[in-house]
Parts: sequence; structure tokens; C-alpha cells
Amino acid sequence: MKGTVLYAPGDVRFEERPEPKIIKPTDAIVRISVTCVCGSDLWPYRGANPITQPTPMGHEYCGIVEEVGSAVKTVRPGQFVIGSFATSDNTCPHCRYGYQSSCEHREWISTAQAPRLRVPLADGTLVATPDVPPDEMLPSLLALSDVMGTGWFAADAANVKPGGTVVVVGDGAVGLLGVLSAKQMGAGRIIAMSRHESRQKLAREFGATDIVAERGVEAAARIKDLTKGIGADSVLECVGTPESMMQAISSTRPGGHIGYVGVPHGVELNGEKLFYTHVHLHGGPAPVRRFLPGLIDLVWKGKINPGKVFDLTLPLDKVAEGYRAMDERRAIKALLRP
Ligand SMILES: [Zn+2]
Ligand SMILES: [Zn+2]
Repeated sequence: MKGTVLYAPGDVRFEERPEPKIIKPTDAIVRISVTCVCGSDLWPYRGANPITQPTPMGHEYCGIVEEVGSAVKTVRPGQFVIGSFATSDNTCPHCRYGYQSSCEHREWISTAQAPRLRVPLADGTLVATPDVPPDEMLPSLLALSDVMGTGWFAADAANVKPGGTVVVVGDGAVGLLGVLSAKQMGAGRIIAMSRHESRQKLAREFGATDIVAERGVEAAARIKDLTKGIGADSVLECVGTPESMMQAISSTRPGGHIGYVGVPHGVELNGEKLFYTHVHLHGGPAPVRRFLPGLIDLVWKGKINPGKVFDLTLPLDKVAEGYRAMDERRAIKALLRP
């Protein structure tokens, strides 16, 4: 089997890898139908995270179960399944509290840009669709594996309420799907921050009512302006830089909520400044497993189409081009077909 391996910044290879096998009785082997490149894959690709050894890549996946270990009870071969980038038993106290991405037995999926994948804790991690889906539904189901679940968590953590005013910081796939999530939750006004025309267009399609193209101080002023000097009820921070986090905090009204899901890189907050903002901060790696059943239902019934964030489709062996296109912002998100 060939799989994706990152050797150094900018150096992605598709090369021979060991076939995944059942190692623990709670494992399943999934034949990947579609996988993709994540915005978070770009951190090591750009050298922002050190790469100490050749590193297999990929954590977003869906496909057909081929084989299950002897202790797997609910997942069966032949089922079409979607799982999160974080595995979970779905039974420990953190899972039962809705934070499956902090499961006591969590492992991170990291070899999914490949034709086959071992998924630990199969029963607690994988969710089956009602049937094997038609091909055209695959992009939207794949989006649930991370970016849609993460956008949804951002909106959930930001306490989006019917009629509320929402600001979304970040116009990557997660930010755009944060817009879609806020719309689904009934937000009255959704202000998306984006400087790119194709992304602004998709944000509007997903439900954005206003676009702010400014950055930094001007952006903060523009948002104050749009919210009559008050600030937004809910702000979704979907980038993870010091600038985006400060943007989020300065856009939130006193007592408002921020859901932050961009993996922080260099973000440091001043406790005293934060104290006087009166904002709620809630974020982290999204507990995608909590939202999977509900989101599968929305996709299955045709109510949401998060797969629209995939604007580039490549055969899996051209994965390196997917990274390049996303790095150069020629593509929002690259879908890969084994
Ligand atoms: Zn991802
Ligand atoms: Zn757990």
C-alpha cells in the first residue's frame, strides 16, 4: 500500500507504507472512499511545527469497514462509516460529558491520506450512515470527519442562539463551515471576515449576511460599526494566530462568547486585559464524535452541503499538489480519491 509521508517543510511524498492490520481487538480496518488535506496539515508543511522524522499524514476520512477486531460489537464489515481525527471509547466520563476528543483512551488518527486505515476504538469512534451513500454525497460526509464538526463546535462553544449576532474570524474551510453552522443554529446576523472573493462568495452562500475584508485595527472598528458599537454575541475564532485571537476578543461584546478552534500558534493572552473584556472563552480540539449523528442526518436529508468547501479534487497519488494548492491558497480544501 502507498501512503502520504511528510519528510520536511514542502516535501510531501506518496510512498510504500505497511498495510494496516488489526492490532487490538477493538480496532477496525476501513477502506477509504475519500480523504483530504487539512488546514492544520499546513502548519508542519510550512515548517511551523518541527518535523523530526518522516511523518505519515492524514486525519479526515470516511469509507467502508473491511475488517473488525474480535471485541468490536456495533461496527460491521460492509458499513460506510465516518470517524473523527480523535478516537474515543465513547464510554469514559469525558466522552459521556460530550468531550470525546479528550477521551481517557484517545489516540490521534494520523495515517488517513492512504487507501486503508486502522481505526482504534472502532465502536466508540466510528458512526455508520443509514446505507452506503451515493458518490455525490461523499464530499459532504467527509467534511463531517473534521472541518464541519469543528465549525459546528466553534458555533456551539460560542453559544450561537437564534437571532444572535455572530462574527466568524477565518475564511478557511472551518471558518466557512462555522458560518454554515451558525446559520443552522438560527443566527440573525453572520459577519464573515475574508479578503478572498471566492471565499466571500461561499460564505454568503452558507449564510453570511455581511463581509468584512479589513484586517487588524480597521477590522475591529468595522465590526464595532456593524454592531452599533456593542460587539457580537458570538465569535468563532478559526485561525489560531495571535492576531486572529485578538480580533476575536475585540469583536465580542461584554458577556459574549468566543468559540476558538484554530490550533493556537504563538497565542499568549494578557490576563488583566482579558479580565476586563468580560468574554467567555471555550475551545479546543472539537469533540466531533458528539456531533456526528446529528450532522450525518442533516447531510443525509440534503439539508446541508458542507462538501462545497472542496474546490479541488485529485487522485490520492497527487497528494503533494493538494498541499501546494492549499499552501498557495489556490484551493480552499483538496479532496483526495484513492
Ligand atoms: Zn483536519
Ligand atoms: Zn472516552
